[in-house]
Amino acid sequence: MSLHAPTIEQRLRQSLGDALRLAEPLRHHTTFRIGGPAEYFIAPESPEDMARAMQAAHALGLPVHLVGGGSNLLVSDAGLAGLTVVNRCAAIEFDGRAAHVGGGADYLGFIEVCRDRELAGLAYAAGIPGSVGGAVYGNAGCYGQDIGSRLIEGVIATLDGASVTTQPRSWFEFGYRDSRLKREPHALLSCVIELEPGQRSAIQGEIDEKLEIRRVKHPQWRFEPTAGSYFKNLPPGFQVPGLPHSPGTHRIPAGALLDACECRGLRVGDAMVFPKHANILVNAGHATARDVLALAEIMKARVRERFGVELEEEVMFLGERPDLSAVLGQTVA
Ligand SMILES: Cc1cc2nc3c(=O)[nH]c(=O)nc-3n(C[C@H](O)[C@H](O)[C@H](O)COP(=O)(O)OP(=O)(O)OC[C@H]3O[C@@H](n4cnc5c(N)ncnc54)[C@H](O)[C@@H]3O)c2cc1C
Repeated sequence: MSLHAPTIEQRLRQSLGDALRLAEPLRHHTTFRIGGPAEYFIAPESPEDMARAMQAAHALGLPVHLVGGGSNLLVSDAGLAGLTVVNRCAAIEFDGRAAHVGGGADYLGFIEVCRDRELAGLAYAAGIPGSVGGAVYGNAGCYGQDIGSRLIEGVIATLDGASVTTQPRSWFEFGYRDSRLKREPHALLSCVIELEPGQRSAIQGEIDEKLEIRRVKHPQWRFEPTAGSYFKNLPPGFQVPGLPHSPGTHRIPAGALLDACECRGLRVGDAMVFPKHANILVNAGHATARDVLALAEIMKARVRERFGVELEEEVMFLGERPDLSAVLGQTVA
């Protein structure tokens, strides 16, 4: 019999077994390829395992960090304390036009499974990386459409894993790149998405078209690591001081302001503004989170000085913020 009390690792392992990993590099789980180690890490494939992992962390007083495809995240170089849970619950079932999909399902993979069933409605989103759960969290979308408008209901768990409930669309309070999940953290275990009948070939045609547009305009995130648009677009009808009034419902792209401030190609360390899109930052080698944060600060300052507008980050930062003063002193333009 051991005279010592079991360590946190031993107690976690009692609940989670060999699936538990220590010091897992989070750069392997983000499309930016940036992020230090997760103190404790697990990638559950069923909602039951996911709830068990969150319960075990809660019982030990450990914070829980949820990650899907890691495509909208900037993770601290120092990594994350507590338990990082990468959602791999990816089951997909159909009930007529309704798809029951796990929060960890790959979004493009899900769109393709719907295509095979001749179910349309999501092909516009082909090329948005990440998971269905991450898409619901941030109400991901493009071309004026978003995933929230097709969600019928979602199964959510509190982050202590204690309570699992099914909530209708209204609960999620979807807005532009926004949902209630941002304000009241829950894990989306699965959801029901409403689709409509379509023709396989037409759906495939739209998927191909959207992927091609992204291939030309955006970085290929598998080879040019990025987290997509870094800043949110401005609200519809927002009057940018110094720019002509643009009435209507379209959002003013943050990229337009960043272009006016000549941000393309700006660089701090290996963090760089994508040459073809001023609102996209790429990891051009071995960028650190600190490089990216410093570059973003420089971009925000340019827009603030020129237009008096404060850009808001769309990419979410996880972990402890580093001190940027040293990096901000040596910008490379
Ligand atoms: C090249 C590129 C292009 C992009 N284009 C678009 C675009 O056109 N439109 C758009 O909206 N976004 C776009 N994005 C951003 C990103 O792909 C989306 O926001 C995506 O939906 C994030 O999903 P994810 O699974 O990767 O989430 P992650 O990055 O893993 O996580 C983002 C947030 O969601 C939370 N989360 C993840 N899974 C769950 C879950 N199951 N339950 C609760 N919370 C969860 C996490 O805790 C985190 O706070 C793009 C990104 C890239 C790299």
